[in-house]
Amino acid sequence: RVVVVGSFNVDHVWTTATLPRPGETLGGRYATGPGGKGFNQATASARAGAATTFVCALGDDPGGELARRLADADGIDLRAQRSDEPTGTAGIYVDGEGRNSIVIGAGANGVLSPAHVAAQRDAFDAAGVVLAQLESPPAAITAALQAARAGEATTLLNPAPANAPTTRELLALADILTPNETEFAGLVTRHVGERIDGDAVTALDQSRLHALCRELLPAGTVVVTLGASGCFVSHAGDALRGDERPFYRLGAEQVRAVDTTGAGDAFNGALVAALAGGSGVAFAAHLRFASRFAALSTEREGAAASMPRRDEVLERFGA
Ligand code: ADP
Repeated sequence: RVVVVGSFNVDHVWTTATLPRPGETLGGRYATGPGGKGFNQATASARAGAATTFVCALGDDPGGELARRLADADGIDLRAQRSDEPTGTAGIYVDGEGRNSIVIGAGANGVLSPAHVAAQRDAFDAAGVVLAQLESPPAAITAALQAARAGEATTLLNPAPANAPTTRELLALADILTPNETEFAGLVTRHVGERIDGDAVTALDQSRLHALCRELLPAGTVVVTLGASGCFVSHAGDALRGDERPFYRLGAEQVRAVDTTGAGDAFNGALVAALAGGSGVAFAAHLRFASRFAALSTEREGAAASMPRRDEVLERFGA
């Protein structure tokens, strides 16, 4: 079983020619759908074939109802704290070049309590892998990763969004850390004390990347996702997770990407599902499945709604 702890948002997306400037009123194509990093990743995990529990906080409103209905449709075991706050929302503008501006109303996500998380002990005890992100209060994330460790599950922390606060203590609760380039650059600048630029990460020498990863998470595995350039993996020397090499690059699949929103969520959800499903398989094999799953998700619009299913991934790319 996989347990995902995190956010649910109702996304409101306006596609406009240009992003609105202060005082400006624009018209645009509108779409709404489910999102939030936690729910996107839980949906990916369930569709990738893992029995999945999602721990979150929802308002008593239509957004909360939507979350319950969708979780049910994907067979997700939903453990929602009921909140007086509204269900989380995201207002997203996307311009003609695919650039975006986003405002998040955390609402209920912002009050997810450590007590509600800790009360799901049966799920943590049954879990092979537990996944969290940083769109929830730090105390709730800490409670989740500690409950996971107590139940001997593997912990995976996706340190997103990039502007969320982090401490070394929180990072150290992760067996596997999965930043994208921007998040990796921020973490290295904050916690390793070396200023690096997100745009420069893909071009960095692999042994240098490995050294930075080792400083960031000395005892764990770091997977830096690099968008269409794939990902970089760095293991602690004594925990190669079935791989032959302590560090390597894995290329992305060639697809016709139309919307890369949620690619990272697809990758994380599919990776935990693969890890929970297959022991005795090299980490690189799980990564390859996650990368194929994420690539397929970019061929469709939407966040949670764009997640493919395991059989579609196998059909497209083979086993
Ligand atoms: P985020 O969405 O968090 O910024 P990335 O953009 O790094 O994350 O994407 C996560 C993973 O999704 C990548 O490591 C890659 O495997 C896959 N991916 C993302 N964009 C593409 C793309 N254009 N083509 C193929 N795979 C992609």
